[in-house]
Amino acid sequence: MNVQKLIPTPKNKNIESIAYNRLTSLVNSMADGVIAVDKNIKIVLFNGAALNILDRNNLKNGDSLKDVLKPVDQNYHTVDIVKLVHNATAPTSSRDLRLSYADGSVSDLYLSIAPVHLGYNDAGKDTGGYVLLLRDITAEKSLEEERDEFISVVSHELRTPITIAEGNISNAQLIFDKSGDMEKIKSSLKAAHEQVLFLASMINDLATLSRAERGKLTVEIEPINVHDLVLELATNYQPEASDHGLQIKTELDPNLQILNSSKLYIREILQNLITNAIKYTPKGQVTISASQKHMNVEISVNDTGIGITKSDQERIFDKFFRSDDVRARAINGTGLGLYVTMKLAKLIGAEISFKSELNKGSTFNVLFPNMTQIESFNQ
Ligand code: ADP
Repeated sequence: MNVQKLIPTPKNKNIESIAYNRLTSLVNSMADGVIAVDKNIKIVLFNGAALNILDRNNLKNGDSLKDVLKPVDQNYHTVDIVKLVHNATAPTSSRDLRLSYADGSVSDLYLSIAPVHLGYNDAGKDTGGYVLLLRDITAEKSLEEERDEFISVVSHELRTPITIAEGNISNAQLIFDKSGDMEKIKSSLKAAHEQVLFLASMINDLATLSRAERGKLTVEIEPINVHDLVLELATNYQPEASDHGLQIKTELDPNLQILNSSKLYIREILQNLITNAIKYTPKGQVTISASQKHMNVEISVNDTGIGITKSDQERIFDKFFRSDDVRARAINGTGLGLYVTMKLAKLIGAEISFKSELNKGSTFNVLFPNMTQIESFNQ
């Protein structure tokens, strides 16, 4: 191993060699990269993990650290590693550096530098140096970024409906005190109620998302009467559709058979698609159709809405994706609905496809397989 090559073999075969072997195997076993340098910032020791992080297959004793470790800052400006090491009079660490590789990829680097005092040599000179610990923290950093984005999107999206609901309730109170006009009070309360319902559906999405991401979702298969389920959903969503001046239609294959799958997830998938169809359709209709495909069932949700641009079509299933279309932006949303929908679909082996044309409308098709035995598909 590399460490063994660089640490001089001890002369005292007994105690020293035991300590030496322990030290080398310890450093080589470390998952973090270790590089030790002397006072002139020349390498005197390194382990295999350091080679991995530096993307090199070897280093030489006496190599200059500045030639092998070339970190950049968050703005990709070169960082003077020699200066950084010399400045480390006490152990320091940083999580803000990056390493760029020849293929153009970049990784986030945790770097800790600690001065090492090895005492004084025969000439009375301090023979110390520095030890550097390197760790690739790209995955951790992207999780942190995702978490920050999540908190900022969710708090922003929660604030809007709460503000609207609060405004409407205050308004209703004011009208009650002043004129008592019941119609106006009713319409304010209705507007507040809509926002509370939206909050409830958002919290539901978040809860499902959190369970899906922790792999905590289980699939319970039961026989489903698709005909009844579609009619029930159409009836449940008609009032919401009517508020938007839309009609919900159903087209049901007379040969529909009982489907074995998770009713809970099918319902949730369809609810997300129907809610979107209603939200993004200013006029026209929403049609839910179901047809038997051999043993399986295909359910489609079609709308005559604003449609989705070709470039947005590639991203609508991404977490937090929301179109920049002003008409879509004017509508409450988190960009989580389709992401959660896709997660649930995968869990029950369903395939989602869609077709959409700007200003004409969209159709989302879901092919639900008949799950004959208790099985769940990989998420
Ligand atoms: P949300 O609706 O909360 O923004 P979704 O994940 O459900 O999140 O949808 C992501 C984006 O896809 C929406 O913001 C919208 O731009 C677009 N989209 C989804 N369904 C439709 C649809 N039926 N018609 C037009 N655009 C849609």
